[in-house]
Amino acid sequence: MTVAAIIVAAGSGTRMSDGGPAKQYRLLAGRTVLARATEPFLRHPLVDRVLLVTREGEAELCRTALGGLASHPKLLRPATGGATRQATVRNGLAAIGTEKPHVVLIHDAARPFVSAGAIGEVIAAVTPQRGAIAATRLTDTLKRSDASGAIIETIPRQDLWRAQTPQGFSYEPIVTAHARAQASGRDDFTDDAAIAEWAGMTVTLIECGPANLKITEQEDMDMARARLSAPDLPDVRTGQGFDVHRLVPGDHVWLCGIRIPHTSTLEGHSDADVGMHAATDALLGTISDADIGEHFKNTDPRWRGARSAQFLADAARRVTDRGGRISNIDVTLLCEAPKVAPHRREMCAAIAQAAGIAADRVSVKATTTEGLGFPGRREGIAALATATVVFPSSAIEHPDAPN
Ligand code: MG
Repeated sequence: MTVAAIIVAAGSGTRMSDGGPAKQYRLLAGRTVLARATEPFLRHPLVDRVLLVTREGEAELCRTALGGLASHPKLLRPATGGATRQATVRNGLAAIGTEKPHVVLIHDAARPFVSAGAIGEVIAAVTPQRGAIAATRLTDTLKRSDASGAIIETIPRQDLWRAQTPQGFSYEPIVTAHARAQASGRDDFTDDAAIAEWAGMTVTLIECGPANLKITEQEDMDMARARLSAPDLPDVRTGQGFDVHRLVPGDHVWLCGIRIPHTSTLEGHSDADVGMHAATDALLGTISDADIGEHFKNTDPRWRGARSAQFLADAARRVTDRGGRISNIDVTLLCEAPKVAPHRREMCAAIAQAAGIAADRVSVKATTTEGLGFPGRREGIAALATATVVFPSSAIEHPDAPN
């Protein structure tokens, strides 16, 4: 089944009389209303194609407003709208016909808070005979007034809903309904459910709650901005690292930045400091930035015998470049010898210095493996590390990438 979404973006926003751009092109917390309204459809696994319908000459403006989403593979070239909302949707339905959709969703570009759940529920409720629309129950008591503003009657609200979008229909029936409405000279329908009802189709209401608000007046814009500026949860990420190096004949080992006299040495291209290596990978893990072997190839002569503290410092710089603040680094060494406890404080200081954090945010622990396995047989030393990094919420606030 092919599902296409039509985003109706041809409004001129005449009710926002401040002379600024139409509401779909205005910014909400750094992204346009249009991008926010379109993205949930582009990202929805059940939606195959997305078509924007814009005013004549606004295709480029629309592209800019979408930011990184403009190159999304599901997005079609925008269609041009008509003089009324109804004509705009009709043009969109005609343009999307090339994709032969089974189900079409029609959504207002001025609704930037549509949820994936609402999209999925509307799609699930559509059948060849029945449309489905997002809606919310009325919570205010309704009154009818006379010309003077005096109440004539109270209208029972239990069966009353506010129609929202998306509105979903099987493609052929809604195209037919639009064509009949046009042929009958009707161009005053304010939503597609009204056209479907007029044409005799059944349309189901899907309760989606009031969050899916439409931006019509300036105060809606203010409300939407207030909502997006509410403090987000911090973006806390954890990374892990693990490393092993072989013990070979020698007289010292480097562990967590400290040179310790020993009866053997760790074999490696650099100083083979497993503690620093595991900590480096843990930091890289918080930014999904490959691993130490990728950044510091063991074939590169620059790193022959190199102090591994510089690898950790490089990973820390990558993290802070992305706005991350390193909260802690915790390292566990797995070895029978040498004894770690006498060097623990110095090791923490060395890791802290390389990572650019306070020493009390670093922990170095050690354990034997009770004589078991390669550490127990003193064939090698292993290290585990965990890093926690706090990123600003805004770092995940702009998912404008194509996928
Ligand atoms: Mg290593």
